[in-house]
Amino acid sequence: MIFQSVKSTLATLTISIIIIVSFSVLVVSIFEHENLYQKFVKSDLDGLSENITNDLVPLIGDTRDVFYITTVLLRLDHYENVKFAAVLTPEFKPIETYIGKANIPSEDIDYYFAKYDLNKTPFGISTNKEELISFKYIGDKHLPIGYLLIINDYQGPLDRSKLSLLKQALPIILVVLAIMILFSLWLHNKLLSPLTRLSLLAKKIENTKDYSLRVNVEGKTEVASLSHNVNSMMQAINKETQINAEYTLQLKEQRLEMEKLANYDSLTGLSNRQHFMQKVKKELEDAEREGNNLFLIYIDLDGFKAVNDTYGHDAGDKLLIEVKNRLQKIIAKESFISRLSGDEFLVLMDRQTSYLSVEKVAGEIVKELNAAFLIDGWKVHIGASCGIASAVDAEFDLGDFVHHADIAMYSSKELGRGRYTFFTQEMKDNNKRELLIANSIMSAINNNEFELYYQCKMSPDEKIVGFEALIRWHKGVLGTVPPDEFISIAEQSGKIIPITHWVLEQLCKDLPKIYQLFDMNTVVSVNLSAHDIRSDGLLEFIQQLFIQYNVLPRCIEFEVTESAYLENFAQANAFFTQITNMGASVALDDFGTGYSSLSYLTKIPINTLKIDKQFIDDVGVSDDATTITKTIIEMAKQLNLRVCCEGVETQLQADFLIEQGCYQLQGYLYSKPLSLDKLGDLLSLECNRLEKV
Ligand code: C2E
Ligand code: CA
Ligand code: CA
Repeated sequence: MIFQSVKSTLATLTISIIIIVSFSVLVVSIFEHENLYQKFVKSDLDGLSENITNDLVPLIGDTRDVFYITTVLLRLDHYENVKFAAVLTPEFKPIETYIGKANIPSEDIDYYFAKYDLNKTPFGISTNKEELISFKYIGDKHLPIGYLLIINDYQGPLDRSKLSLLKQALPIILVVLAIMILFSLWLHNKLLSPLTRLSLLAKKIENTKDYSLRVNVEGKTEVASLSHNVNSMMQAINKETQINAEYTLQLKEQRLEMEKLANYDSLTGLSNRQHFMQKVKKELEDAEREGNNLFLIYIDLDGFKAVNDTYGHDAGDKLLIEVKNRLQKIIAKESFISRLSGDEFLVLMDRQTSYLSVEKVAGEIVKELNAAFLIDGWKVHIGASCGIASAVDAEFDLGDFVHHADIAMYSSKELGRGRYTFFTQEMKDNNKRELLIANSIMSAINNNEFELYYQCKMSPDEKIVGFEALIRWHKGVLGTVPPDEFISIAEQSGKIIPITHWVLEQLCKDLPKIYQLFDMNTVVSVNLSAHDIRSDGLLEFIQQLFIQYNVLPRCIEFEVTESAYLENFAQANAFFTQITNMGASVALDDFGTGYSSLSYLTKIPINTLKIDKQFIDDVGVSDDATTITKTIIEMAKQLNLRVCCEGVETQLQADFLIEQGCYQLQGYLYSKPLSLDKLGDLLSLECNRLEKV
């Protein structure tokens, strides 16, 4: 573009210069012609008037021959530019006058005499733009006998002469001008054509963005060198462009990689929390606008932690990938799966999903994740607890939507895991209560609202051999809150450790009273939760308490549920090894409810198996429960473990269990948990062979 305009400006400039020069030449020649013309007519007139004056000398004297004078003047007829002539006396009186061919009819003799004041007219040849005036002496200059005045037209002939010059010269000038212009244009083109080609190349590159284009211009060294330089520049640009393209590609890949890192879980490749939440937010907005419902499934794996602890983190990772594969098989492509964290997954069902179909999918998830996984040659069992929420219930609020699914998932856990549950408003109300409970725990400790109750454990010959310390919370603003409820809330809200500390210290304080009433060999057990095992410093706390309160470790037993132990296998092993080394004993609580693999029993430092109440309930009623109980007792004997049966409510159950070789019995048949003050009552009961309380 710029080049094109430079080129046209250059051409215009050249043409203008040519025209100006041509016309200057014309003007100068006209001017020169005028000069020459003036010189020529002056000398011509001078010669003519000189001749006439000479011829007049003999005719003007004493006798004037007017006839001859006229004849002499008539010679002026040959000169067509003469306007007027007069022969004058020395006193400037006309002797004879002559009107020439160039005279204008209206200008008579008087006109000329009026126009020229002869006293002021210079002698010789003079001019006044319009006319040439010749004023000559006749005779001797010092003693003239008369004068000759000739007035010659000057401007008219000059104009005509100029016109004729123009008429002759102009066509030639114009032809020359045209030739010069054409020539200059041709020259321009010739000189500028390489530049034109370079310009076209630039234009083409601009349009095609093809930097591999080249131009080949020969000729003038400067232009050829320019073309060469342009080509080199193009080569450099092309190279740079290629490098840039590679760099851009690299950047694009890096950006994709970063996006992937930012939005996807590196282990499973599923969307991460942030990415998933963005998607759910948008889907909720769309669904609300279109009047559709949406379903969300919250999946939490059961027993995943135990797999991590038992088989290692690599196996845990492989298991998570397998879980993802199974989920992807069950869930339609249109649905959206995310790994929220650890062993938690979320599934946003596609828009077409109905209540029935989400239920079906959730059922399949539970079933599929319950089936054994083959990881590193091991058959690994886990399960899944699912919670289902609907967008309508959550009023299309993202936070509520996810929270509802979470609440429903917890409900599945509470109901015994390995199942799915739909969210209900009731769950949310409970959740509010949970929050209230969680927030009241610390003040409950500070305000002494907790109390320890003790439930006795009986030997087969029905003597009190031990107690289980069970916490109670009566005095709070919430009234009586059962431990089943607040213990799990305390665990979830991270407040179980202060509770355990309180229980342990209270037990130490209560022990002297217990030993006042009962045998010094009586063992009191205390419950520990999974969080306690994982916490730092509990062992030191216990050791310090035992020293402070003078407690014999052999009098204390720690109960830990089978699931809490196995989910924290490595830590639990380390912790309970030290507990047994101190001389205290360990019981595996709620045995039989969680894990089918019994092989681990030989590897852990425990003394007692507490068979869960659910088996004891059905002893003598269900063949399965009876067989399981018998088998556990038998197996325990072989493993050198004692068996405590909890939840014994009937004499029939007690008789059966005693017959099978159960080591200890605990249950309402003997006593409910009692406050320390009431423990004395058990003495009389014991005396009466422990009749039912
Ligand atoms: P658990 O450790 O399995 O305790 C036994 C539960 O069974 C106690 O319930 C006890 O009262 C109840 N029980 C005993 N015999 C019978 C019977 O014959 N029939 C029936 N129906 N129930 C019987 P409790 O005291 O309500 O405690 C419930 C759970 O709360 C405990 O289960 C334990 O897991 C937890 N818990 C209680 N106190 C503490 C504590 O101090 N620390 C920790 N970490 N957990 C505790
Ligand atoms: Ca227990
Ligand atoms: Ca138990």
